Amino acid sequence: MPPRVSLIIVAAGRGARIGGAIPKQYLSCAGRPLICHTIEALTRAHEFPAATVVIHPDDRDLYDAAVARLSSDAARALATPVFGGATRQHSVRNGLESLADAMPEIVLIHDGARPFASRELIARAIEAALLHGAAVPATPMTDTVKQVDSEGRIVASPERASLRAVQTPQAFRFDLILEAHRKAARADLTDDAAVAEAAGHSVFVFDGDFNNTKVTTMLDLREAEARLSQDASEVRVGQGFDVHAFAPGDGVWLGGVLIPHDKKLEGHSDADVALHAIADAIYGALGEGDIGAHFPPSDARWRGADSALFLAHAAERVRARGGVIANIDVTLICESPKIGPHREAMRARIAEIAGIAIGRTGVKATTSEGLGFTGRREGIACLAMATIRLPPD
Ligand code: MG
Repeated sequence: MPPRVSLIIVAAGRGARIGGAIPKQYLSCAGRPLICHTIEALTRAHEFPAATVVIHPDDRDLYDAAVARLSSDAARALATPVFGGATRQHSVRNGLESLADAMPEIVLIHDGARPFASRELIARAIEAALLHGAAVPATPMTDTVKQVDSEGRIVASPERASLRAVQTPQAFRFDLILEAHRKAARADLTDDAAVAEAAGHSVFVFDGDFNNTKVTTMLDLREAEARLSQDASEVRVGQGFDVHAFAPGDGVWLGGVLIPHDKKLEGHSDADVALHAIADAIYGALGEGDIGAHFPPSDARWRGADSALFLAHAAERVRARGGVIANIDVTLICESPKIGPHREAMRARIAEIAGIAIGRTGVKATTSEGLGFTGRREGIACLAMATIRLPPD
């Protein structure tokens, strides 16, 4: 039987060194909050029964918004988040206590701001914890290290060959690290290796990874963005077009918003032409057919369906392929209803369903100057374009 391995991602910090009102783990990086990349990398690397993220109580909304941007596989792997404490040590303790009933064999404790952990690194961490009980990934020092006093005077030059720079995930036998945290006398230990050491355990190092960097400064964030963007560097554009006819009614669904009108749009689902055109644009960019292929009109399940379902599915397909939606642009063609008063509500709803920022959505409208079927007020037509970025094949 493979060992039961739990994962704690520590994301309760305030990110003081990076500044700004939003903690760094929630700052946007390559189209999504940084923490999303960390969660995706870890949950892709190993099938954890439940990955627990420790968050600051003030960050619940930021966390929920970030989780909404995860692929469904990564979101499924997450347990309910745990609230952290005043220090990193306290936060990890809360995470460990939340797992005490489940009693996993091994626990990995990882920084929320390290988005580059590889599958190989996670495998080494688990192996090292099984072998030693307490182990941390480390890399050789490339810079010479000096110890200085409070005036900046060098007081020691430790031999570089014996020094290591320590990363996460730090890996432990669960009972060992839980007990070490419970009996820790000090509250200011900056990593879990120090907690294990304080409890008298030998902690071993295993091979870390120079790519497994931590985002601490704004420069780190930009570098991480460049590396993550390279992963999804192939830009693709898709188009979508849809038409629905008017029928007697009292409102039309457009862009996920119900607009009062003296007619409705006729269709198998809620007939939201805008969401249909956008979903088709995304499927087109992916090369994955169209809305009818994924949700056949012959299937009674989609009768009267909320079209948000279709757009959410298309957006999920982008995430499942490791991509991001760069922008969505929509043009509605109709004489009425007036679109302008509802534009912002539609942009917000489209952004919400697609899991992107509102600034990445555009909603425009035009009439057809009285010409054709839209001019005769027989229905509404919609054009949409979507730009997505995918990892190269
Ligand atoms: Mg349609």
